[in-house]
Amino acid sequence: MTKIILSICIFAVSLGAMAQGQARVLCGNEFLPNIMEQHFPGYKNAVNASFERAKAHRNLTAAGADTTIYTIPVIFHIVWNAPAENLDDSIIMSELQVINEDYRRHNADSVNTISYFDSVAGDARIQFVIHDIRRVQTTATFGISLSGLPDSLIKQTANGGDDAIDPDHFLNIWIVNIQSSFFGQLLGYSYPPDSLNNWPTGSIAPYKGWDGVVIDYRCIGRNNPNPLVFSGQTLVIKGRTGTHEIGHYLGLRHIWGDGSTFGPNDCLQSDGIDDTPFANTQSNFDCATTRNTCTQIEPYYGADAPDMVQNYMDYSSESCMNLFTKGQVALMRGSLADQRQQIVSGYSTGIASVKAETTVSIYPNPTTGVVYVPFAESRNPYSSIEVYNMLGETIGTMPIETAGAVKLDLSNMPNGIYTLDIVKNGQHYAKRAVVSK
Ligand SMILES: [Zn+2]
Repeated sequence: MTKIILSICIFAVSLGAMAQGQARVLCGNEFLPNIMEQHFPGYKNAVNASFERAKAHRNLTAAGADTTIYTIPVIFHIVWNAPAENLDDSIIMSELQVINEDYRRHNADSVNTISYFDSVAGDARIQFVIHDIRRVQTTATFGISLSGLPDSLIKQTANGGDDAIDPDHFLNIWIVNIQSSFFGQLLGYSYPPDSLNNWPTGSIAPYKGWDGVVIDYRCIGRNNPNPLVFSGQTLVIKGRTGTHEIGHYLGLRHIWGDGSTFGPNDCLQSDGIDDTPFANTQSNFDCATTRNTCTQIEPYYGADAPDMVQNYMDYSSESCMNLFTKGQVALMRGSLADQRQQIVSGYSTGIASVKAETTVSIYPNPTTGVVYVPFAESRNPYSSIEVYNMLGETIGTMPIETAGAVKLDLSNMPNGIYTLDIVKNGQHYAKRAVVSK
């Protein structure tokens, strides 16, 4: 029987573990989809069908053969109650940097990937740009209960949250204080591809406006001053709840296949990815890279491979996570070529579609102010570079007329991430410049 994914991740403490003073991490993939199924009959089948479609795209997007850099525009919704929850822009920028590093395998700790798995680690070739940061003060509180997830509150303005913005074309990320409950502490959750547009006929949910990612405000960025303390333990936070949840959003399952979350451990549950070795349980945060919970010969490796506890889709400490595999990359890119194609088809900045540019580099980046955009080829096809701030507002346009690198002076602009919209042959291409002074 195929197991069902819903990317609900709970940080909980078992009574037994508590006695030893150790927190234990659980994911509610078995439990919470059942809640969803009760409210929205057909949910499990629809999610599974979408996963199978994404998996089928592996063959179409063999890792390495497809070099397109996909750009996903992100809208952050900060729905805050206490002032500490209204995160500073610098924390959002840190989060953006984390997911951009992790999805390009530019993360500094990629060198820590154990040699056994070094050759299967992959660059997802996905980058993220900020389209908007929205801030909504609320008096509502958000917790998970027997009646379900707090989507109807978090994602609906009328109920004290903030409505999604065009979830077909933007990745909406809500940042809220998720109250702990008897279930434990929810770090974040998201919906896999196609749980919206391609629902079975007559299905009423989930609603389109629920698509996206929810993350607890204490799990954002590497510079977050708000510790996440649960049962006396402080969780290591490096912004990778975002990496993990976006992985689900793009179709990935937990690498242990979710078979043992609330049932007996077994080594038969698969995440559908051949280069993530079988494991009969999640990694339990201890970064034990020699753990080997399933001892059968792995067909992909032709050997008994250890558990891949450094994978972003395991439940490891964020200090030891450092890779997606090429198989995972192919599945995510498959969903971007199919179910989530619209989100990388270009986004409106008020002018035209913007596409990722792979033939133009900019330097230095990050910069303290001045950015150069060199053009090896004739400038003629280029007509201008327009610069947007992270709110999508135009801050200037520079026509391109002469040879050599184009110099952009952003030294008067505040720290942040700027999108350079390079117009070429009538098409718009996006590059991202980070100003850090
Ligand atoms: Zn998860």
